[in-house]
Amino acid sequence: MTVRVRIAPSPTGNLHIGTARTAVFNWLFAHHHGGKFILRIEDTDLERSRPEYTDNILAGLRWLGLNWDEGPFFQSQRLDLYKTAVKKLLDQGLAYRCYTTPEELEALREAQKAKGEAPRYDNRHRNLTPEQEAAFQAEGRSFVIRFKIDDDREIVWNDLVRDKMVWRGSDLGGDMVIARASADGIGQPLYNFVVVVDDIDMQITHVIRGEDHIANTAKQILLYEALGAAAPVFAHSPLILNMDGRKLSKRDGVTSISDFQKLGFTAEALVNYMTLLGWSPPDSTQEIFTLEGAAKEFSFERVNKAGAKFDWAKLDWLNSQYIHNLPVDKLTDLLIPYWQEAGYNVEGRERPWLEQLVGLIGPSLTRLVEAVEMSKLFFSDTVELSEEGSKQLQQEGASAVLSAILAALENQPEFTEPTAQEIIKQVVKQQNVKKGLVMRSLRVALTGDVHGPDLIQSWLLLNHLGLDKARLNQAISS
Ligand code: GLU
Repeated sequence: MTVRVRIAPSPTGNLHIGTARTAVFNWLFAHHHGGKFILRIEDTDLERSRPEYTDNILAGLRWLGLNWDEGPFFQSQRLDLYKTAVKKLLDQGLAYRCYTTPEELEALREAQKAKGEAPRYDNRHRNLTPEQEAAFQAEGRSFVIRFKIDDDREIVWNDLVRDKMVWRGSDLGGDMVIARASADGIGQPLYNFVVVVDDIDMQITHVIRGEDHIANTAKQILLYEALGAAAPVFAHSPLILNMDGRKLSKRDGVTSISDFQKLGFTAEALVNYMTLLGWSPPDSTQEIFTLEGAAKEFSFERVNKAGAKFDWAKLDWLNSQYIHNLPVDKLTDLLIPYWQEAGYNVEGRERPWLEQLVGLIGPSLTRLVEAVEMSKLFFSDTVELSEEGSKQLQQEGASAVLSAILAALENQPEFTEPTAQEIIKQVVKQQNVKKGLVMRSLRVALTGDVHGPDLIQSWLLLNHLGLDKARLNQAISS
């Protein structure tokens, strides 16, 4: 048997971290077994689905390296298949048209509430005669299609994560709606139904998805049976929780993959982190691996039942590991979009200069976006003086030191690291001051602050642009 799994996002929002983590588990499982990973866009909810969300989902999966083998298939293009299946269930008497009005359903719900019962449909239109149906139609009532669920049925499956699962038909809220009213009398098929039709049609062998779908699984197993197909194996992965132990939600701020990208996480670090959200490798000390590496080891035996807490500190740590191990040219490629987004004149800089800048700031980065703030002084024409910086410039001798540096600079045909060191040494001697005064004053003149990246390297970068003299002049006259 070839393993066939799928990720089935609904394009009603950007690619969510929970969906992406489900995609990771599917991808790992498929690759572990040499199987296929299929992408299906569940866009049957026409009101809430948007093409820009589909674009965001596809771009996010690609960015993460979660390439798919088949698809994307769009449910909106497969309506005929679903309608044929609805018709089959109607013809077999396994589904029926229900004409209960929203007001009647509301009254039913109220009555149940008053008795302290859980809301459920009472299956009142299960056995309508053709005459009763005709009468409802004559009244102008619209209908939904309901699938019969036997209250006494026991539904059992062996979940790859949660082991033996047992549900009763009576837990499922009465006969379930599988299609809404539509002009052709067959209806607009709904989520739980089309998922099953698609998973049968696409020969899905394992359905791997979040545990929020467990109740759907119980219903869907009955639909497989009704459609005459064997149910796939199910694996319900644990939810992602915030640090307070609650389900990660929009209120937690960042939840979509494109947000993580904007914040400066690398795809490799993020995907690595997601594999660890609920799974651990057999060697639990191993924390850094590629998707391919994790796929070799992946099995549901090592997926937790308990929710997985989202740990920003761990993600930051992983991200810094990836960033610090990147060759300078690759890191430069990754940083360019962040600088461009910030409006920096990247095009006006030469590649070797950019790489030199990356060599300087790279080791201090945890998130790529931090490069924007760290490189600001190298891209702007002027410096902003911090309070400490301006105090430094008012120190006795500071101005004379800077004038001496400027004069020494004028006489240099070529400016290199040894030249910079030599100038500093000369000025210390000539002005008869401490080296600290020279270094601190120079740093403030060039960068505006008393702290910052390596001084000599910063000076070299600014000298390439001819910015050092201008800044020394500015500091002397301030
Ligand atoms: N479309 C569903 C969702 O986005 C996924 C359904 C499934 O995996 O079966 O939650």
